[in-house]
Amino acid sequence: MRVTLLGTGDTTGTPTVGCDCDTCVRARELGVERSRFAVHVENRRTGECLLVDLSPDFRHQFLTQDVSLPDEAVVTHIHFDHLDGLGNAYRVFDDLPVHAANETDPVTGESVADTVRRKYDYLDRITVVDHAPFERFSVCGLDCRLVPVDHPPLVCYGLVVEDPETGAKLSLTGDTSYGIPDDSRAALADPDLLLADAIVPAALCEYHPLGGRHENSEGVPRTFGSKHMTREGALDMARELGARETRLVHTAHFYPAEEAFEEPLAVDGEQYDL
Ligand SMILES: [Zn+2]
Ligand SMILES: [Zn+2]
Ligand SMILES: [Zn+2]
Repeated sequence: MRVTLLGTGDTTGTPTVGCDCDTCVRARELGVERSRFAVHVENRRTGECLLVDLSPDFRHQFLTQDVSLPDEAVVTHIHFDHLDGLGNAYRVFDDLPVHAANETDPVTGESVADTVRRKYDYLDRITVVDHAPFERFSVCGLDCRLVPVDHPPLVCYGLVVEDPETGAKLSLTGDTSYGIPDDSRAALADPDLLLADAIVPAALCEYHPLGGRHENSEGVPRTFGSKHMTREGALDMARELGARETRLVHTAHFYPAEEAFEEPLAVDGEQYDL
């Protein structure tokens, strides 16, 4: 499978509009971008393409990256930066199956699949397909599993994508704290490529009203506030999962400029063949 990182930023992206912080200035100088989250996965055996999350930057991503429009999509959760690009499906797709989890969220009273169906009921060209967490389902000839992660207050899922022919494995943590449940860690383990949420460096936890959580043995917080992993948390997670290669994604412009473009922080357009 060929994996293209279409959107590697957090909810405001880098550069952030109207921002002239050192990191946003540096991104403009380097000509790099971290748009809102999306990952494109091509099954190289069949030519079919799967899109993970519907970024508000959908149009820009497909105009600037050399990838085909998706045949199917998967939604990890209902936050703006992962779902609200779905309106772009209007008059672009004849038929787009959208896969999402069927567990009812106690906060919204709806599953992710229900919310997608309700918000986009005007799009008659999309078909929402419900799946139970951990259920294996086939998308574009690839085996997928949505696995629960920890992104309070909403339900959110990581995603495992495996090629049943070659054994190649891609794992995405989704938006999550370090508190990923054990059964989900087991499903995400041993990927050829891990895409891990790493919103900011741990040192910035002191500026979050909730501080940091899930400290490691040196006292370094692996969760920023309650919703996302720190860079240090994401790297610990990668070690724990035994990832062959790791890219840090969903990163914010709050990274200091001298750290923001270091390895293994991803930028838009990176491509991996698994
Ligand atoms: Zn900025
Ligand atoms: Zn989120
Ligand atoms: Zn997000």
